[in-house]
Amino acid sequence: MSKFVEERNDNFFSVRYEIDRVLYSKRSPFQKVEVVQTKGHGRMLLNDDLVMVSERDEFVYHDMIVHPVLLTHPNPRRVLIIGGGDGGTAREVLRHNKVEQCDMVEIDGCVVEACREFLPVTAEALSTPAPRFSLHIDDGVKFIRETKNEYDVVIVDSTDPIGPATPLFGREFYRDVYTHLADDGIVVSQGESPYYNAKTQHTMVQILAELFPIVRYLNFTNLTYPGGLWSFSFASKKWHPLRDFSEERMREANLKFRYYNADIHRAAFALPSFQLDNIGAFLKE
Ligand code: SAM
Repeated sequence: MSKFVEERNDNFFSVRYEIDRVLYSKRSPFQKVEVVQTKGHGRMLLNDDLVMVSERDEFVYHDMIVHPVLLTHPNPRRVLIIGGGDGGTAREVLRHNKVEQCDMVEIDGCVVEACREFLPVTAEALSTPAPRFSLHIDDGVKFIRETKNEYDVVIVDSTDPIGPATPLFGREFYRDVYTHLADDGIVVSQGESPYYNAKTQHTMVQILAELFPIVRYLNFTNLTYPGGLWSFSFASKKWHPLRDFSEERMREANLKFRYYNADIHRAAFALPSFQLDNIGAFLKE
């Protein structure tokens, strides 16, 4: 008999994946954490029955949350990742030679444990030795409030605004991020679906526009997140994602990408009209 995992979204639709077996299943203090072997999408990480990562298309999300920002900032030496327990974002950040120090703050040790054992494709980078990489099992909200560090780039690779991730979409959190960003720092965040989470996008862009002189959104399409089209927010104190993006710097970085390239970089910041109707008034520059 076939076995399935089912991701239920917004109580009006669901996506069902056929699986071979469950590789890891634990209830942490924060959420249910599972890794399953699917029939068509490789291994998958689910937190509270929501798909976080699938081996089949994780490269899309991780390319797009990392490379547009790291190739806009001319000298991203110090990077902070909040969330991102599967390690895919850290993997892409650490491919950039300019990065000297990458701190990652994941609230749930079970996610890291599960991915280290069963999702080596994303989690390998989590074994990068200090001082280049440091993993903190802690609340990102608390970490950013208390840290003495200053960062060139902050990447918020979080779950949906539920439970411990709720404050990661709030005003106070972004004030703290702003304080701990260098004078030319940039923050990029998991920005939800333009179709299903228009209200969240509206609130996020409003908060960012209160703080940052440059506020943009970028989109990408993928297989895993509901509806396919998904977004990141991009807020910057100085560097502009189109004016300051340099193809020469990209060539110098000498990286091979599976989704990202220079045309995708530019195109990602072009938004469909219905999304502009929702957030366009708050985009800056
Ligand atoms: N790419 C994924 C997505 O969009 O669904 C996100 C992947 S990553 C696994 C998200 C991580 O954020 C989860 O492992 C979760 O435990 C972590 N997280 C949620 N709230 C957090 C917080 N307050 N501080 C640090 N990490 C948090």
